[in-house]
Amino acid sequence: MTQHQRMIYLDDALALPGCPVCRMTLQRVAQTLASIEAELVLDPTWREQVDSAWGFCNLHAQQWLDQAQPLSTAIIYEAVLGRITRQLEQRLPSRAGPGNVRSRIAGMRSGGAQREVLVAPGVCPLCRTRDEQERQIVAHLLRELKSDVMRTRYAASDGLCVVHLDLALATSPEPEVLDALRTRLVERHEVLRSELRDVIRTHDYRFRDAEAGPQWNAIAGAVRHVAGSPGIDGRRARPDRGD
Ligand SMILES: [Zn+2]
Ligand SMILES: [Zn+2]
Repeated sequence: MTQHQRMIYLDDALALPGCPVCRMTLQRVAQTLASIEAELVLDPTWREQVDSAWGFCNLHAQQWLDQAQPLSTAIIYEAVLGRITRQLEQRLPSRAGPGNVRSRIAGMRSGGAQREVLVAPGVCPLCRTRDEQERQIVAHLLRELKSDVMRTRYAASDGLCVVHLDLALATSPEPEVLDALRTRLVERHEVLRSELRDVIRTHDYRFRDAEAGPQWNAIAGAVRHVAGSPGIDGRRARPDRGD
């Protein structure tokens, strides 16, 4: 976790490779993960958020397993398993008398909500941090881009990934900010497409299992530019998502 301990600010993120919003958001998610772990036993609010979400979504559960201590993980998941067991027992009592069985069958036949055995868990606390942070960081970037100095710095950076550009466009940025975003994106796409065309032109199936080196970097760079860095959920981040 040491790489996440120092807070990354916009200036730092613009000087580093990749989308600055992806980088800053993922760092804040890693920090939240560390604070959940540190305050878990002491802070009942965190406990309730984590327990009611059944721990974490698939992506963040893997991240938690990679980064958290086994003791914290055991504490969380012991409680989560207890909560799920209680829900299951409430919905499907194991020692049902004849009356209970009848009402249970009637409930199942009625369809709709009755078919849903378990109550849906709450939002993963790390997804919530990610969603809040990426919106705040995009808003901060757009405010900063009103200055010429920051627009010059942005022009020299890798710029936003498509996921975060989409989020930025949804806030109707001012014309000069919009122009800076658009120019950088078009330039970046030219570079990425040229790298991909090189890969396509020089690709040799005989070496398909070999380490691709710079070619692989070009491919991974293009995928991350469109989908966001690993840990970003582009479809969820879309402002018009239908939930
Ligand atoms: Zn991004
Ligand atoms: Zn999550």
